Amino acid sequence: MVNRKKPGKRAIIKAAGGKCCICATTENLTVDHIIPLSEGGTNNADNLRVMCEICQKKYHGTDKPNKAWK
Ligand SMILES: [Zn+2]
Repeated sequence: MVNRKKPGKRAIIKAAGGKCCICATTENLTVDHIIPLSEGGTNNADNLRVMCEICQKKYHGTDKPNKAWK
């Protein structure tokens, strides 16, 4: 039995249409947690959205990478 703690990043991006949910770019995409894991968010699909790294930095106001997906 395969232990899948979280869905694959690429699968999530593909399911979202392969583009940023804010600016619709297809470059430098990453998966963003709507509610951060540090605040009790989950890795479920309903807590995930696809953003490019630029929009993610603007949204969260930080240059820190999303370590959950590294
Ligand atoms: Zn973007």
